Amino acid sequence: MLHIEGLTKQYKTDEVELFALKNINVHVSKGEFVAIVGPSGSGKSTFLNMLGCLDRPTSGSYVLDGIEVTRLKDKELAGVRNQKIGFVFQSFNLLPRATSLRNVEIPMLYAGVGMAVRKKRATAALQRVGLGQRMGHKPSQLSGGQRQRVAIARALVNQPSIVLADEPTGNLDSRSSMEVMSIFQELHAQGVTILLVTHEADIAQHAERVITFKDGCIIKDEQVIDRLFATASEEVILT
Ligand code: ATP
Ligand code: MG
Repeated sequence: MLHIEGLTKQYKTDEVELFALKNINVHVSKGEFVAIVGPSGSGKSTFLNMLGCLDRPTSGSYVLDGIEVTRLKDKELAGVRNQKIGFVFQSFNLLPRATSLRNVEIPMLYAGVGMAVRKKRATAALQRVGLGQRMGHKPSQLSGGQRQRVAIARALVNQPSIVLADEPTGNLDSRSSMEVMSIFQELHAQGVTILLVTHEADIAQHAERVITFKDGCIIKDEQVIDRLFATASEEVILT
């Protein structure tokens, strides 16, 4: 569903030219839950921004659901971003004066969805993340974990092909982080494709595949062994 070949991103500032991504090759299948880890400055956010069509690569190919995204015009790219991608940010990026329901309706406003359908879908998305009782609350009236769940509901509301999350637990305490990660686990169980950037090992543990970046390159791409399976096999060996 997501195929990347030779993806490179070069940033040019006044004095320096810097390759934030160097010749990245990745394939992600539908329904995978991938964690992206690596040191600060290794290119994780740059990579996610390319996948989310928030920025364009300098060269390389990016195919999403059969569409060669790098060839699209700006307007078409915005369409793909709105219809196929759900983005979750570290700082939630909610409108402070709007209720949870209104915040979740926003991607559908851009997509030109009518009011009745908007309300229905936003309500269902908030219920999906366990916030059916918080639809009329504004962000300041919600906990950090609840704010991030509103942001996840907003990311889901157009039924995107992929959900991208950049340090979604970065501003949360450990309890709220677990709350948010259990939502990602549930989405994964429901077949949603998720790519999540984190620098915390215990957050990366929730994923089934971990990709490690360093200096703009992928240095490791490994399938995490199913822990239940691993424990079961150990028991077999021991007995
Ligand atoms: P962190 O864990 O700190 O969030 P990261 O892995 O997400 O780091 P990126 O934000 O992708 O790292 O940055 C990769 C490199 O690209 C860094 O060296 C950064 O300084 C540079 N960079 C990122 N955005 C820009 C930009 N808009 N213009 C110039 N350089 C940039
Ligand atoms: Mg980053």
